[in-house]
Amino acid sequence: MANYEEPITDYDEIVENCTCAFCGCNCDDLDYLVKDGHVVAVRHACRLGASKIMEDMDQRLLVPMIRNEEGELEEVDWDAALDKAAELIAGAVRPVFYGWSETSIETMHHGLELGELVGAVLDNQATICHGPSIQAVQNVGYPIFTLGEGKNRADMVVYTGSNAMNSHPRHMARYSTFPRGYFRPRGRYDRTVVTMDPKYSDTAKMSDVWIGFEQNGDYEFYNAIRAVLKGKKLKKDVISGIPKEDIYELTEKMKNAQFGTLYFGLGLTHTLSKQRNIDIAIQMIADLNKYSKWVLMPMRGHFNVNGFNIFMSYETGFPYGVDFSRGYQRYMNGETNTIDLLTRKECDVFMVIAADPGAHYPGGAVKHLAEIPVIQIDIHWGPSTEIADVVLPGSFIGVEAAGTSYRMDGVPIYMKKAIDKPETCRDDEWIVKELLERVKKIKAEQGTSQSEEGALAK
Ligand code: SF4
Repeated sequence: MANYEEPITDYDEIVENCTCAFCGCNCDDLDYLVKDGHVVAVRHACRLGASKIMEDMDQRLLVPMIRNEEGELEEVDWDAALDKAAELIAGAVRPVFYGWSETSIETMHHGLELGELVGAVLDNQATICHGPSIQAVQNVGYPIFTLGEGKNRADMVVYTGSNAMNSHPRHMARYSTFPRGYFRPRGRYDRTVVTMDPKYSDTAKMSDVWIGFEQNGDYEFYNAIRAVLKGKKLKKDVISGIPKEDIYELTEKMKNAQFGTLYFGLGLTHTLSKQRNIDIAIQMIADLNKYSKWVLMPMRGHFNVNGFNIFMSYETGFPYGVDFSRGYQRYMNGETNTIDLLTRKECDVFMVIAADPGAHYPGGAVKHLAEIPVIQIDIHWGPSTEIADVVLPGSFIGVEAAGTSYRMDGVPIYMKKAIDKPETCRDDEWIVKELLERVKKIKAEQGTSQSEEGALAK
């Protein structure tokens, strides 16, 4: 009993049906126990979600800051910080606005207007995570479904390149494996669960079947299943480390499912063949649909990473890495993505919102970030703060501020506000809107002075 924690009973109120702002499951059944304006306990969340919601004051950014001539971050008032940031953005030649996956769609809306105004590149974390999945969807289509459909209908659940038990802890419990569904009244007992992964992960331990194909063997393995689905005989005895008899048996099981769901993670997206792995997985789903109903879904990480891709696709036609430098939107992988722009040293002002490239980017990209002005809008101190020149402390969506996000299946979720933000912080939406207004003002003044100079020259 040493690790048993007494339940929290000392609280002022319970705020029900809040949405978790951690992973792409966007669990919207959480109850926050609030005392003295702080969330002291969370009901229904997994450990990842609960720790983010409750420990948000750890390393919290509380005041706007500007880096002074000695290289130290110095506290300033909001006007000074916003003016400095607006001045940097208005004067930039090749600005990049990166992040967005942990903020609201409403904030992105103002960010897009600002990006169009100054000819920026708008990019999000998809550039380093499910970008290849999005490229594959552009190549061969998107046989997606909603998590509700999967819960109610799926009798076969496949995880590949994803350890959902660790990365999305409630995914199996709430959506895919354990819940009772309309057509699956016995829940787990009505489903066959398969994990295809080189690792015997925690998700594999919860599955009926584990297919441990070789590292980087995904492409060959899925092609073997496709060949069997097309009625071919496999010529090799062992494919990607899996005996061909096992591949025949698995394919037969998949053909005979009533409703099959395949969830794939970065383990599939980022092994050797990258987007081609997803191409082939999508085509395998298309082949399976000749026998039964099959669908697939990427396991999106940040709670609104999908939201940025959906929002940008709707507004501009392109999902991420959207470049407005020519006055209209362009998108070219390898050219208009953040890491490429940084390693080529093209970017001259970088605004990072609700992301931490300082922690995730390759050395060359971070080195360039250290050499150019960086504006950070975030709630926590992180490696990016160490290289930021202007820091604008935002607020926590789904806890301190309301906003819209898109779940991994593309269902929009309204995230309600539960408590007040710290007095010295501002909502992300307000910050980006304020930057937009200030940059517009600078641009208008520049336009006026240029026309006056032109008139004098005449
Ligand atoms: S599974 Fe994801 S969204 Fe749900 S509570 Fe856990 S971290 Fe939050």
